[in-house]
Amino acid sequence: NEPIAQMDPEISALIDSELKRQQNGLEMIASENFVPRAVLDAQGSVLTNKYAEGYPGRRYYGGCEFVDGVETIARNRAKELFGAEFANVQPHSGAQANAAVYQALIKPGDTVLGLALDHGGHLTHGTKMNFSGKFYKAETYGVNPETFLIDPEIIRQRALETHPQLIIGGWSAYPRIEDFKAMKEIADEVGAKFWVDMAHFAGMVAAGLHPSPVPYADVVSSTAHKTLGGPRSGFILSKEEYGKKLNSAVFPGQQGGPLMHIIAAKAVAFKVAGSDAFKQRMERTIEGAKILADRLTSEDLKAQGISVLTGGTDVHLVMVDLRNSEMDGLAAENLLASCGITVNRNTVPFDPRPASVASGLRIGTSALATRGFAAPQYEEVADIIGTALANGKDADVEALSARVSKLTVDFPLYPGL
Ligand code: PLP
Repeated sequence: NEPIAQMDPEISALIDSELKRQQNGLEMIASENFVPRAVLDAQGSVLTNKYAEGYPGRRYYGGCEFVDGVETIARNRAKELFGAEFANVQPHSGAQANAAVYQALIKPGDTVLGLALDHGGHLTHGTKMNFSGKFYKAETYGVNPETFLIDPEIIRQRALETHPQLIIGGWSAYPRIEDFKAMKEIADEVGAKFWVDMAHFAGMVAAGLHPSPVPYADVVSSTAHKTLGGPRSGFILSKEEYGKKLNSAVFPGQQGGPLMHIIAAKAVAFKVAGSDAFKQRMERTIEGAKILADRLTSEDLKAQGISVLTGGTDVHLVMVDLRNSEMDGLAAENLLASCGITVNRNTVPFDPRPASVASGLRIGTSALATRGFAAPQYEEVADIIGTALANGKDADVEALSARVSKLTVDFPLYPGL
């Protein structure tokens, strides 16, 4: 029972280095966040030892009386937080939640219609190299080529052409809010089911700062670890009528034993997400993204051919458009990394560059809001990013890194860890 530092110094040192990396840099990858200590505690608990195939009250293993309590609380909190009739909290990840949604709603070979990967969709929404594009006939819709917005009329036209059994809403890289009501009406018009993958914006939905897909979609899937700020994992919400099918699709359809320590951590995260402090954090997240979008649409960036897609944002991320800039996404990602800011390059719709280089950056504000950032700090980080991108190769990396370091010192992450 030695602690990890003695038992496995090699891994222990790498964990320590990762903690320092998180503490000493600014994390702006839109899909990442920092979990509270209580979530780390649940994840590192003895619940990891317990097998519990099945569902509360109907397990295939003995000794499940306490983990039954954990899963029941997690399910009830998820239902209450999002106003859903049914919740399954067992998916190990967002991708596995999505696999279960397909399995519950349609048959292999059926047609699905989702947002194209290079327009901001997710791999599991029908990409060729993913199971979703191999087992199902995957059709895509793109954003409006003029506005770069998801446009219900384009979805409707594509639905009328392709006759999908399932229409998919939700995205991985898109800065605006979709019209779930219009999408549901299109699904009804063509006789399709409507599924929304709210992985990215679930935290804002929980806080009441983003429209909820729950009243409109047949099924809603999500991850727990992006804006929602919980452990890496997934969950599914739906109307009661799909509950039985979804339960069988998760177990035994896609998974074996549930990760009870992660389900406990999800329960903690749902509790946190129902608090006033969480709502304020989500408000700061969105405000931070708006501040960033404002700075990145200013004149010095325009002069370098840099702008932001759709001209702004309604959510936790900004999509930087580098199509007209000499600097590509890879170079911009590396430049910001050299200043201590972690972001990811991303293709933009109609991208002239290959995905390995890309003409976009996806920059998110949720992890910094969790760290305590509010408007003044976002003004500073937005100016650091704006100044770096406007100056490109000539940027004064040393001076910008010093400004980053000051923010990390003023807002310590996991003090005492
Ligand atoms: N769905 C969407 C919209 C996502 O953006 C992601 C993650 O990037 C996923 C699903 C997959 O989640 P996971 O990485 O947990 O499998």
